[in-house]
Amino acid sequence: MTALEGYLRARINAEGALSVADYMATCLYHPQWGYYLRKDPLGAAGDFITAPEISQMFGELLGAWALAVWQSMGEPADIVLAELGPGRGTLMADFLRAAATVPAFRRALRIHLVEISPTLRARQKQTLQDAQVIWLDDIRTLPAGPLLLIANEFFDALPINQYVMDDDGWHDRLVGIKQGKLAFAVGPLADINGPPATAGDIFEINKPGREIARWLGQHLTVQGGAALIVDYGHAITAVGDTLQAVKRHRHAAILDDPGDADLTAHVDFQALAEAANAATTTNVISQGSFLRSLGIELRAERLMSTTPQKADMIQSACRRLIEPSGMGTLFKVRALTHPGLPTPPGFVR
Ligand code: SAH
Repeated sequence: MTALEGYLRARINAEGALSVADYMATCLYHPQWGYYLRKDPLGAAGDFITAPEISQMFGELLGAWALAVWQSMGEPADIVLAELGPGRGTLMADFLRAAATVPAFRRALRIHLVEISPTLRARQKQTLQDAQVIWLDDIRTLPAGPLLLIANEFFDALPINQYVMDDDGWHDRLVGIKQGKLAFAVGPLADINGPPATAGDIFEINKPGREIARWLGQHLTVQGGAALIVDYGHAITAVGDTLQAVKRHRHAAILDDPGDADLTAHVDFQALAEAANAATTTNVISQGSFLRSLGIELRAERLMSTTPQKADMIQSACRRLIEPSGMGTLFKVRALTHPGLPTPPGFVR
């Protein structure tokens, strides 16, 4: 039994079953044994791998995207560049290298990283040692001023509540103890509006995600700027149990070894857009078509011609990012912008 499981059992015995959000938040963020507080989950030796860790092209293209948005804003001399959950800092490093091709853009950027994990903060410090960076715990403490914000695989990491449809309506889904083991249970009726469902269906609400999106929508509308959200998930709100545990690149059981596996859920892009509706939201497009329209294939060819010894690697990384068999269709992209801005590159409105 992990130390965290001992702690969870004691809490359940004392307070009763926990909501799925409580369970997830404890597994991920417990100050001593929480998943994100203890280890660096990324890379081949970790539990999962993300787009910026697959190829430098990902961060570079996001940098090119942000440059175009900055130009459409009239090239402000000062702009807050923020990243939510920056992992190892790889995306930001690639972004900044691309940004440096236009010195006025690079000079305008005031870099802010919103990161909860001390382990990953240290890693980011190492990766970005040449840059001036401010770290924050919470997006709501970002300074005033126009904002460019990037969030790759951030919203999926936030705790979700789950609800189960029964004959009389939606009920909270809980984590309790049954026959000596952690087990899911059905709790009291919940006061929520879910999509059409039949008995047994599960519906998920990412409350912290919605709150962040609401804040972001208001901030962009008042201060100007744009945000880019990249994650796996669905364009339209729907029922479905998408909570998953991943350990060493394999699926694991959600209630096994709490704190040792990464727990995530698919992102409901419609719910985020509704929460952010003070800002203008683009349509949702696949990561594949987004990266293609930003020119990833051309960028790959360029890289292959300068480093022919790495051509195979570059080619397969490019495929993995854009093809349906890789991350191309599961991953989706949506931008939020100040209502006065044109549709950002890569999207149609
Ligand atoms: N964007 C990175 C890492 C994705 S993993 C990449 O693409 O490689 C999720 C990241 O979000 C990690 O950096 C994790 O520590 C951070 N994170 C998770 N929950 C958070 C929270 N509530 N507040 C701030 N950062 C959080």
